[in-house]
Amino acid sequence: MAIQADGALINRLITATSKAIASDEDRLTRLDQRIGDADHGTNMKRGFDALMRERHGWTRAAWPDALHQTGKTLVLAIGGASGALYGSLLLGMASAARENAPFPEQFAEGIAWVKHRGRSDAGAKTLLDVLIPVLAAVRAEYSLAELRDAADRACAATGPMMATSGRAAYLHERSCGHIDPGAASSCLLVHAICDVLEQDL
Ligand code: ADP
Ligand code: MG
Repeated sequence: MAIQADGALINRLITATSKAIASDEDRLTRLDQRIGDADHGTNMKRGFDALMRERHGWTRAAWPDALHQTGKTLVLAIGGASGALYGSLLLGMASAARENAPFPEQFAEGIAWVKHRGRSDAGAKTLLDVLIPVLAAVRAEYSLAELRDAADRACAATGPMMATSGRAAYLHERSCGHIDPGAASSCLLVHAICDVLEQDL
């Protein structure tokens, strides 16, 4: 693989993911209207707008430092549950990257931080239900096309689940039949990231 993990890559990933979040902002908010408080699109847009403003300062940064800054920015700019969770993902990845862990183990550490922060795990109808299967696909060295498919299938599978974490858990059985907004944002982020990586391979 010719992928160079550094601040310049983070810049390109931010540009692509921000564009994807902006174009799906309304869809994410509509999903959150059904089983949450109708702000997931707005929250993510605010976070990624902040990344777009700050990303230039990270161009020359090393990969772990750029990941850390990205995570910190999301926590501060988003405020809601998704800020703390996506922020934890990136801060956990940065921590493993500083120990020179290979990429799948960076991603695994990020997910471990999300689980800890959200006191949650697979099957609770959250973004973890996309991140965990995507990690399995990364570890199995799936192609980028297969990674996108794995994310799509995992996102769709949150539909019938009953939420046991986050705001949607207050709805009990009424949370069933709706895709989780955080799963939907994770899925679209995976797509945008795969699109960028494809250009480097
Ligand atoms: P908020 O719930 O503060 O309004 P958002 O609407 O931006 O935040 O994000 C909601 C998403 O965050 C949910 O769809 C779910 O995927 C995720 N989420 C919420 N709480 C948790 C948790 N405790 N553990 C894991 N993910 C969670
Ligand atoms: Mg919400």
